[in-house]
Amino acid sequence: MLFPTGHRGAATPAPVVPSTGRLQPLGLDQVRITGGPWARRQEVNAAATLAHIEHWLEREGWLGNFDLAAAGGPAAGRRGREFSDSEVYKLLEAMAWELGRRPDADLEHRFGAMVRRVAAAQEPDGYLGTRFGRPGQEPRYTDLEWGHELYCQGHLYQAAAARARTGRPGDLLVEVARRSADHVCATFGPDGNQGICGHAEVEVGLAELGRALGEPRYLAQAALFLDRRGHGVLADIEFGRSYYQDDVPVRDAEVFHGHAVRANYLAAGAVDVAVETGDEKLLDAVAGQWARTQARRTYLTGGQGSHHQDEAFGDDWVLPPDRAYSETCASVGSVMVSWRLLLARGGAQYADAIERALTNVVATSPAHDGRSFFYANTLHQRVPAEHVATDEVSKRAEASLRAPWFEVACCPPNVARTFASVAAYVATVDDGGVQLHQYAPAEIRATLPSGEQVALDVVTGYPDDGRVEVHVVDAPSGDWTLTLRVPSWSPSARVRVDDGSDRVVGPGFVEVPGPRSGAVVTLDLDAAPRFVVPDPHIDAVRGCVAVQRGPQVLCLESVDLDEGDGVDDVVVDASVPPWEVDGTVYVRAGILGASDGGWPYAATDDAAPRPRPELRDVPLVAYHDWANRGPATMRVWLPAL
Ligand SMILES: [Zn+2]
Repeated sequence: MLFPTGHRGAATPAPVVPSTGRLQPLGLDQVRITGGPWARRQEVNAAATLAHIEHWLEREGWLGNFDLAAAGGPAAGRRGREFSDSEVYKLLEAMAWELGRRPDADLEHRFGAMVRRVAAAQEPDGYLGTRFGRPGQEPRYTDLEWGHELYCQGHLYQAAAARARTGRPGDLLVEVARRSADHVCATFGPDGNQGICGHAEVEVGLAELGRALGEPRYLAQAALFLDRRGHGVLADIEFGRSYYQDDVPVRDAEVFHGHAVRANYLAAGAVDVAVETGDEKLLDAVAGQWARTQARRTYLTGGQGSHHQDEAFGDDWVLPPDRAYSETCASVGSVMVSWRLLLARGGAQYADAIERALTNVVATSPAHDGRSFFYANTLHQRVPAEHVATDEVSKRAEASLRAPWFEVACCPPNVARTFASVAAYVATVDDGGVQLHQYAPAEIRATLPSGEQVALDVVTGYPDDGRVEVHVVDAPSGDWTLTLRVPSWSPSARVRVDDGSDRVVGPGFVEVPGPRSGAVVTLDLDAAPRFVVPDPHIDAVRGCVAVQRGPQVLCLESVDLDEGDGVDDVVVDASVPPWEVDGTVYVRAGILGASDGGWPYAATDDAAPRPRPELRDVPLVAYHDWANRGPATMRVWLPAL
């Protein structure tokens, strides 16, 4: 049965609230991040990024498109790409989570004004979209391959779920989304239009709106879209039907493939449908695809997608660092999938993947001031970027410095909605107790399924410091378990409770039985910097090493080298482990002599031995911090001597 009465999907202010599963999410009212890097990101997001995005949506006319549509046209005045409505919805979702996190009268006012403009453009039958269906425009749903109409409405549903769950179930945005979803069900139901959207998203949106509103019809429609996909419903295109995952049914696929954002959004929707319908085979299929994708198609940073041309996954092992596309949105999507699998099945590997992608891709996208963004996240920048004007739209997604806005601007609002709701990924509960998945200074005030309360304060200098203290402010009266994740990057960890218990454990979940009120549980992770070597199948980085410090991938940036030396001249002495002085990590490295300018290949017999370069100490920076000091070259993978 779908959505049993008393379902928790309406009341928990979190992005994903399944009716069932191994673990239960906690809402933003139960987990508050109080310090550290994620708190700073949330502050910048609230203080700068939300208004920055709103400014650009207004300036580029993407908000104005709704005003034009409300007035009946004219179609010729519409600006932006076919999916520009979705950026408005993603900003609304980000604002809704931010308002759920902390009331703000000004933000509430701006949110309400934007929603009224959106609502005014809704057609009497519930259809909502500014690109199709009005005089001078193509009829609705005549370009399902590229039109993004259902994709856009899917983002509307996620925004509405955020609003419904943060205390405003009767909000105008929720009613707009309900009418739109009713329209989609009526139009694309079992006896209706048999199409699907070229860009998956409506599935995950319908499932979550269904959970938030207790409406099983929306979930059934999501399941219908999923079942239709993979049978060549959409036209064959230059990239092939694999581009939009219409080449093979999702339950028969072996690995994520095609456009990386689409693949992740589709998988997220598939997990939602599988969980709500008890379809273990579908869940097995997606979990298997996730595992192979992580094992063979994911960058060290957690980034996904190595094709620029079609923004797609490459084949297994095709992970060139200098051609990494690694779109920010693909990593937001990967967090969506990993989080749903974690809730459904448990498994520390899912929380590991979330940490990797959040720390090294999602957090890399925005500049420190929250007003410019990476769209693609290369692991190797060979040519210094040109300065990007702070008041111009970037035409290129591959801009090598962060840009204030893009013609295709999916990434900035995706970052904003993720940061505003990032506390939701910190912890979960189950019948036995509380599980901590991500570490940050935080206050956790959770209600267990039994109704008992647990209050925990997390004190840590993570991720620079591997010590995490969990202060048990209030423990349940009976038996309970505090579960802590030991990340896969920490070869071992020490867990101590101030009652005297002390043990060394390996990566995975470690259970601490029933600490009482007033207890302090200390987890010491090994966050020392260390070399990482790639699987030799990844040809593009064979013979290279990277440096990771805790969850943070580090990189070499040219601004830290002597004038005239480039990152491509550097070779590392991997026999000397990286070390840290005053928070900066160093490697021992040499600078290759200049090439003689001739043919760069030689028969092995003729190759002159290269003189061993003089070695020096070279500093590295966190990858998420790179390109904040002006144009530079950069690389994550460094050739070993
Ligand atoms: Zn994007």
